[in-house]
Parts: sequence; structure tokens; C-alpha cells
Amino acid sequence: MFTPLERPEGVGARVKRIIGGSELRNFDPFLMLDLFNVKLPAGFPDHPHRGFETVTYMLSGEIHHEDFKGHKGVIGPGDIQWMTAGKGILHAEMPGSFDTPSYGFQLWINLMSKDKYCEPQYQEFYKKDIPVHQADNMSAKVIAGEVFGVKGPIHTRTPAYFIDFTLTGSGKEYTHVIPANWNAMVFVYEGSLEVQEGKKAAQFTNVVFNASSTEGQIKVKSVGETAKFILLAGTPMGEKMVQHGPFVLNT
Ligand code: MN
Repeated sequence: MFTPLERPEGVGARVKRIIGGSELRNFDPFLMLDLFNVKLPAGFPDHPHRGFETVTYMLSGEIHHEDFKGHKGVIGPGDIQWMTAGKGILHAEMPGSFDTPSYGFQLWINLMSKDKYCEPQYQEFYKKDIPVHQADNMSAKVIAGEVFGVKGPIHTRTPAYFIDFTLTGSGKEYTHVIPANWNAMVFVYEGSLEVQEGKKAAQFTNVVFNASSTEGQIKVKSVGETAKFILLAGTPMGEKMVQHGPFVLNT
């Protein structure tokens, strides 16, 4: 359990590095998770990716993207872009405004050796197309995975869950089943939570479980009025990995 420090990224941008920093370097199959908060003129101009997937999930503001093959667009609050870089892509990701910050998550998921040289592909969904499980005191935007029969639209080449939860009201509980041997984590981005037995997680705390410590489930309980958190889980690939920045291959 830790609170990630801020660090520079891109050009003039600051991010909280939740996975991939000194506190949690490797979290197979995840390579990196950043919470970014950036406005122009800062941003992420032309840069490459190879051998993994990048997932951008917007909380507020916009990101304008364009790649070297002419694929371009804008994602806004609640939208998701799941990009399989595969054998390689060069693109730019820039905020939409000098005044309104662009705030959201960027996740990097490793690809298995058999998928590393696939053609680049996109899965893009607007907020309205992402299914939500709604209950009295809980809502879950299911990007990848399943909550009470509501399934996320993303095809994950590397099996993974990516779910954005909101618990409304104090003392509300929820338990999510995690497959045996998966790594999992809960990152609180608003409010605070109690996770498993007695782990108090304030805003911006990451609670990390390796494959043997979830005991097949993660229990959360809201502490304040409203708690928002990302649940991320995935199957460890256990393959040899060689990373140099945005290039992640097996040798
Ligand atoms: Mn990128």
C-alpha cells in the first residue's frame, strides 16, 4: 500500500505513477499506470510504443490523439481508448485546452510474445457505450471484466479487469471475485476506503495484492460519503521481458 509520488512525463506534464515507479516497478501483466492532470501547452507530442497496449480512460477534459497512419480523434470525460500498439505505432496525445485540465488514467498492459508483433489496433468507446452496473449505493463502469452480469466491451488479449467503481454513502461494502493467481490492485482516486480487513486507504492510495494475497476476492468498504476507485486485475504472463522506455519485448 502506498501513495505514488508525482513525476514529470511527456513535455511539461506531471503524473502520479501508480504502477511502473519506484514503489511498484513490475506488476505483471501491467507495465505502467499513470494518473495524469495536464493542460496545454504541456502534453505528450510524437512518441512511439511497441510490444504492449496503452489504455486511456478520461475522467475530465479532452485528449486529442493522432497516429502516423492517420488514425485521429478526441476522447472526453468517461471515454476510453484501448490501443494495441503491437509491432509499433508513433502517435501524439495532447490536451484540448489551455484552461481546463485533462485528467485521467493511462495504463500500459504487456502483450504475450505471440501478440507482440500484431498489427496496431484500436478499441474506442464513448462514455455512453460503456456499460454501467447501477445499484442503490454502488455503480460500476465496466470497461473490461464483469460486475453482476454486466460485461465490459473491451477484448483483452491479456486477460484483465479494468472497472471504475463509485460507492455512495458511508460504510457501503462490495466484494469482487478475483481469479486465482491474478495480480490485483485498488487505487482510490476520490474519497477513502477500507480494503480487505483494516487497510485504510485515503485518496490517491494504491492497495496492491499479489497473486497469492487476494484469497480470491477483494473486499472494499466506503469510509466517507463518496469513494471512487479503479479496480485493476490481470493474469501474470511470467514471460521474459526487456523494456527500454516505450519498447517492451521478450529479448
Ligand atoms: Mn502514447
